[in-house]
Amino acid sequence: MDPDIQRRLRALPSVHSVMSDPALANWASRLPPDALLRIAQSSVDEARSGILGGSTLDPAAIVQRVANRLSEMTDAAGSIVVNGTGVVIHTNLGRSPVSRATADAMAWHAGRYQALELRLDTGERGGRGDEVSQLMGALTGAEQTLVVNNNAAAVLLTLAATTSARDVIVSRGEAVEIGGGFRVPDVLRQSGANLVEVGTTNRTYLRDYEAATTDNTAAYLKVHASNFLISGFTAAASLTDLAALGRLRGVLLIEDVGSGCLLDTRQYGLAYEPTIAESIAAGADVVCASGDKLLGGPQAGLIVGRAEVVKQIAAHPLARAVRADKSCLAGIAATLRHYLLNEAEREIPVWWSISRSPDWLRERAERWQAELGHPFVEVVQTESVVGGGSLPGRTLPSFGIALAVPGTASDELARRLRTGSPAVMPRIIDERVAIDARTVLPDEDTRVVSAVRAALG
Ligand SMILES: *Cc1c(COP(=O)(O)O)cnc(C)c1O
Repeated sequence: MDPDIQRRLRALPSVHSVMSDPALANWASRLPPDALLRIAQSSVDEARSGILGGSTLDPAAIVQRVANRLSEMTDAAGSIVVNGTGVVIHTNLGRSPVSRATADAMAWHAGRYQALELRLDTGERGGRGDEVSQLMGALTGAEQTLVVNNNAAAVLLTLAATTSARDVIVSRGEAVEIGGGFRVPDVLRQSGANLVEVGTTNRTYLRDYEAATTDNTAAYLKVHASNFLISGFTAAASLTDLAALGRLRGVLLIEDVGSGCLLDTRQYGLAYEPTIAESIAAGADVVCASGDKLLGGPQAGLIVGRAEVVKQIAAHPLARAVRADKSCLAGIAATLRHYLLNEAEREIPVWWSISRSPDWLRERAERWQAELGHPFVEVVQTESVVGGGSLPGRTLPSFGIALAVPGTASDELARRLRTGSPAVMPRIIDERVAIDARTVLPDEDTRVVSAVRAALG
């Protein structure tokens, strides 16, 4: 072994000496001794691998690393960031932030007992999620709603519970992958159903479904393409036609709409996105959607549709494995209430962001610029997008501030923003670090200004 590496390995402190370092005395008195031991051990191990890999770590830095790690581990708000990316539903940033009322409802319900499966008037056992069902019913016309962990679980459970290993017909253009491992053919296989693909990638007609329907067909599955566009010479069977065919042939119509939108996206200058209400009205028996995309609520999957079918799905053994907890149910209910009270645009962060006008955003960016009063901060025009697997291929005109400091690389500026307090996730435009005004939440102006001021130094 390289004598230099040997020397550095010998210089590594023992786990015990790290633990008893005076700089960690405060932690040592508060933590269970085994926990501190494990953290110190892993930091020493990490340093050893680093040295073997050729790094030149100062042994004294190990204690500092343990201290940093403990600070991070004990900081409940540690991973919170300001979203300056201009991507409205950013999967890596936790998709939709929920409304204040939703966050309050979730915290309130999480910390209390509640009549979750109990009817207070009779004292008898009641249904979990009745409140969500009523709200969804009012908003979409659906008879019943079941809330599960996420939309992937909603689709998997729906197929497992309704198809009993029989055939499910899917258009070739819809046997897609929706990022992060959600692939329609794989989900179908896991549910036990047998995938029957019909049509071609770009064109599938009603007659294709008709020709493939047999006595063994359990369902037609429609999947919203969500994160890509098939454009040009295309055709798809309409939901209404498929619903009629399904009723005629005794085949269930299941639709995975993806984002779970309840508003008309076109009034905001966005591409058309199917809504749950439209799918129900068109005759889908069951519609599956995410809670934390365009619905703007907490992570959840919604199974919305005919009472008879949703009841059957809720009774499947897998339903218990993917059920939503009380906090999630309270959060979805609180989010739906905003739609019922027609205040989604004002209260739900995703819709607040989408509905900001370019003028409003420019003025916001100009305010930041004025407050910063820094020569290297410029107001710039940007394009924001709605991410998280919805509304592909369409941007919203926006504004933000761009920073450029002579002598400081934009990578370094971006790093300072990401690791500052508060942390800000910027975007890079023309090699400059920028913060898009659209995705910064309404109460985050002072946070942005102070974060930028610190990063500019
Ligand atoms: C996003 C998406 C899913 C997965 O939803 P999760 O809530 O992330 O589990 C499934 N299907 C479609 C069409 C989607 O857009």
